Amino acid sequence: MRITHLWLPVFMLLPALANAQSALMALQPDRIFSGEKLYESGEWLLIKEGYVVEIVQTEAELPPEAEQRQLKGKTIIPALIDAHAHLGYQSVDSWGAQNYNDANLRDNLSQYAYYGFSTVFSAGSDPVALIDELRATIDVESLSLATPLAAYGVAPKGFGPNNTFLNEIRSVEAEQGTKILFGLDQPSDIQTLIKAVEPKRGAIIKIWVDDRAGTQPKLAQPLYTELVDQAIKNGIKVVAHQQDSDDTARLAKAGVAGFLHGRFEDEIGEELSLSLAESNTFVIPNLGLSLLRNMTIAEDPLLIETLPAATLSRLESRIFPTTDNTMTASNSYDSIQGQLDQLISNLDPSIRRSFVSAIARGVPIILGTDAGALPDHFFGYSGHKELEIFVALGMSPEQAIEAATYKAASQLGLNDRGLLEKGRRADFLLLNSSPLINIRATQDIHAVFLLGKELDRNAISRRLKQD
Ligand SMILES: [Zn+2]
Repeated sequence: MRITHLWLPVFMLLPALANAQSALMALQPDRIFSGEKLYESGEWLLIKEGYVVEIVQTEAELPPEAEQRQLKGKTIIPALIDAHAHLGYQSVDSWGAQNYNDANLRDNLSQYAYYGFSTVFSAGSDPVALIDELRATIDVESLSLATPLAAYGVAPKGFGPNNTFLNEIRSVEAEQGTKILFGLDQPSDIQTLIKAVEPKRGAIIKIWVDDRAGTQPKLAQPLYTELVDQAIKNGIKVVAHQQDSDDTARLAKAGVAGFLHGRFEDEIGEELSLSLAESNTFVIPNLGLSLLRNMTIAEDPLLIETLPAATLSRLESRIFPTTDNTMTASNSYDSIQGQLDQLISNLDPSIRRSFVSAIARGVPIILGTDAGALPDHFFGYSGHKELEIFVALGMSPEQAIEAATYKAASQLGLNDRGLLEKGRRADFLLLNSSPLINIRATQDIHAVFLLGKELDRNAISRRLKQD
């Protein structure tokens, strides 16, 4: 039934898409980083009908019917994935429950696509059925939007997110007449929850284990331990928001799939690191959330591409706490980079130490931003800054890109993307220079392709800027 429903409209759309997607297309950039492997000897990326056919070594091996495009000076990397965000609340000019509707969700997802993201995981603040429906529409109508994933939010009844966000989520629940947050106060709630969630294939539950500085009850260890146990038995992933390292250790022992906040201020410790590596439990450092709030981001040419003038002028009141007079660079790009560099160098040295040791011990670190959880922490934009932070703190550019592509895809259970290899989605970025030399090259995007189709980035920019 479901298959018929999905295929009929695709068939009807085929004539319109024929030129864009059905032809065999061969792209030859200077280099291709597949998400795992580097090719820089003139290889071709061969794509058809939205998927990767293969990476071909020489022109002689190309099928004669392939349309060839040479891309001098360009680098191809897979499209990026943000594994922690909150869709719907942030619009191009304000933040709050009043923005949560289909049109704004589509704007958020087109902003992600504009910045080269194929996928975003919205962590526990949406009506899951609504996001699933939108995702199906995107697939069926072949819309050039990032794919949204959503999670069921679980905490003691009436709690979970920080108190400001909590109020906004409750307003959306009331407005939409649907549940976003599910209460867990006693063992009998667990079966009810699993029953509600289990019919959805690939379901994800997000739990909050945080007393919000004494203002909320904290989800109790025996309850989440039993929930995670039951969830795993039913093929459901549980991801965690936690506040301190003791909780990280307890949650890891319970078997959560990953952590949405790294909490690197406290060192993860050798034993826990090795066990996270062993169990392939992911950690999202989420460091840009605090840093970007201290930057004059309104001057960033990258952000200017997607915000209306009125929003940019509102953001100008953000003052960079300069400690160095040489920071008043005339070029805004240099100034923004300088601010981020300075904030990173001012980070508590324990964060860098614990980040580096987590990498060395093989902890699976993936990209997530918490974009949209609070006002003016912007979609897509913040992901590129997070990659800069990863590299500044000691990741290699390859590791940073892996964290934002195939590692994120596999942690989210998406085996159809994140890597440019046979049979996966042709979601990729054409960059003007190599991010393997300087990670900031991910911000210099020449083109974005989703399912083999080039995005009209100028049209997205014009619409978001409301020009
Ligand atoms: Zn969050």
